[in-house]
Amino acid sequence: MIDVINPATEQVIGSVAAGSPDTVSGAVAAARAAQPAWAALPRTERAARLRALQEGLAAAAPELAELISAEMGAPLPVARKVQVGLPLATLQSMVELLDNPEVPETIGNSRVYREPVGVVAAITPWNYPLHQTVAKVAPALAAGNTVVHKPSEVAPLSANRLAELVRAAGIPDGVYNVVHGYGDPTGAALAGHPGIDLVSFTGSTAAGRKVAALAAANVTRVALELGGKSANVILDDADLAAAVKVGVANCFLNSGQTCTAWTRMLVPESRHDEAVELAAAAAAKYTVGDPSDPATRLGPLASAAQRDRVLGYIERGKRDGATVAFGGGEVPAVGYYVAPVVFAGVDPESVIAQEEIFGPVLSIIRYRDEADAVRIANATRYGLAGAVWSADRDRALAVARRMRTGQVDINGGSFNPLAPFGGIGDSGYGRELGPHGYDEFTAVKAVQL
Ligand code: NAD
Repeated sequence: MIDVINPATEQVIGSVAAGSPDTVSGAVAAARAAQPAWAALPRTERAARLRALQEGLAAAAPELAELISAEMGAPLPVARKVQVGLPLATLQSMVELLDNPEVPETIGNSRVYREPVGVVAAITPWNYPLHQTVAKVAPALAAGNTVVHKPSEVAPLSANRLAELVRAAGIPDGVYNVVHGYGDPTGAALAGHPGIDLVSFTGSTAAGRKVAALAAANVTRVALELGGKSANVILDDADLAAAVKVGVANCFLNSGQTCTAWTRMLVPESRHDEAVELAAAAAAKYTVGDPSDPATRLGPLASAAQRDRVLGYIERGKRDGATVAFGGGEVPAVGYYVAPVVFAGVDPESVIAQEEIFGPVLSIIRYRDEADAVRIANATRYGLAGAVWSADRDRALAVARRMRTGQVDINGGSFNPLAPFGGIGDSGYGRELGPHGYDEFTAVKAVQL
């Protein structure tokens, strides 16, 4: 059994059974057996079942938000709006996609069809446990696949609740299967199982590398959604106050445990000190505390290991000569809390500017000119998200096009749950959400007439 710990109270709130490689094989067999009948259902029928799941999830939303907050520490408003709000939007988008009839592409004398891949292995992390799951399960099921899901051992309880809702929605047994366990051996057994047709993985780059190697032995397709070290490029003509305020909020969302977080704020040399002052003032508003207290903006980190990792990076930043412009405040004695930190004058080559910290830590970096800003933005192995701020939208767009990354927000452009989501480089490959996310779970077939 694996105990699940509430990171705010350090109390055990539940436990899950760790699956063995045999458990994984049983789940894969169940998914294989269920797949042909699920794929054979008319598109409208799969849409109806997913609509029922969406309605079930909507009805269970308040309870699910509390469960997710308890298992990984997100403040309740974040849990409601993001942790549960995004999965609702994703399910809705897949229902709408299925509501439109299938239109095969025509290329000369060929018709090109998108067919289910077969059995999908979904391996997910703890930071947005339900969102990362539904981002895989909804399109996979919509396209006619069945799924074996290995949730994070840190936050596994929401997957059990989802499985109950799947059954209540009339989705047949074997279509969505949950196997709990640690990455190794359970996740590894799943990734390397010959009965899997596609592994869709979200998590760290280190684990993603291992998953891809295991899948390669069976020539199994892989999609990897990995870490990030995204740059928020604030150009010299930008509204600095708005750019810094939104930038801090983006970096600290979910206590900094967001793969797309803009953890590097790039500012013109001449405006560095002004930006630091604004960022410190903004960070001071992020009250740390009990996730169920409405005044709280930063809950605990998800685990003791994650807290220790983040504290280690904060020490490393100080040792490497970055200035602490804000931070080090008091945190509750019980719970895996970390007070937010803003580092100023950060060397873009230093460890805190290169490695993913996954906590409420912002690095402010100076640049000389636009070319230097683009160079620094691109000088990490990651490429997941990013931002550009400028009074001139075309100028911002031109900079965005030069950034090596999967998505860029201009002047605070809002998150679009239908836009393709994913990275390049060490941030992985493959895309989730919207039509691109649906396509990820299909195989292309050309029929010549
Ligand atoms: P993690 O890599 O430790 O674990 C992710 C999942 O992989 C867990 O279910 C874990 O049990 C499993 N796993 C670990 N080792 C494995 C192995 N050898 N074989 C098979 N499965 C294995 O990541 P985490 O700590 O849970 O999550 C944080 C990381 O996830 C961060 O790096 C973050 O950036 C990344 N992330 C990326 C995205 C994205 O969409 N790009 C989204 C959220 C999180």
